[in-house]
Amino acid sequence: MHTVGFDKHDHAACVGGGLRAAEETCAKQGLRLTKGRRRVLEILLQEHRAMGAYDILSILAEEGYASQPPVVYRALDFLVGNGFVHKIQKLNAYVACAHPGDSHTPVFLICRGCEAVAETAATLKTTLGEAAKKVGFTIETTIVEAEGLCPVCTQTNAAGAPA
Ligand SMILES: [Zn+2]
Ligand SMILES: [Zn+2]
Ligand SMILES: [Zn+2]
Repeated sequence: MHTVGFDKHDHAACVGGGLRAAEETCAKQGLRLTKGRRRVLEILLQEHRAMGAYDILSILAEEGYASQPPVVYRALDFLVGNGFVHKIQKLNAYVACAHPGDSHTPVFLICRGCEAVAETAATLKTTLGEAAKKVGFTIETTIVEAEGLCPVCTQTNAAGAPA
């Protein structure tokens, strides 16, 4: 069993939806979603968890796809550059976007217990934008990474704590 985000949801639809959104965007913008790029996205969609490039590489190698790191990095560059995947700096890892197709400021909730990652779109952008404007700063990208405990790990923690 693996964690599928922090909410119970139809995960098959979640993976299928993510792939479809990427396919549609690529078709619309004339981008090439090659088999390798698509597979990397699919691997990330299957886990609501940040994965390092080498985790992805070992899965691809097992499947007989690319076994060269540059291939994976190029696929990840493409996926990140087009907003299908986000990079979590804190973990130096990647996670599939939970809101593909929307322009949004991703906010990541990272569990320090099990490394599950949930993405939530926050309304932080306006507040932050206003604060930045006051000091004459132009924001180009914002990525918020919050660390804490997911519901499962919070419970485990509480159960293990002395009464
Ligand atoms: Zn899911
Ligand atoms: Zn996103
Ligand atoms: Zn957790």
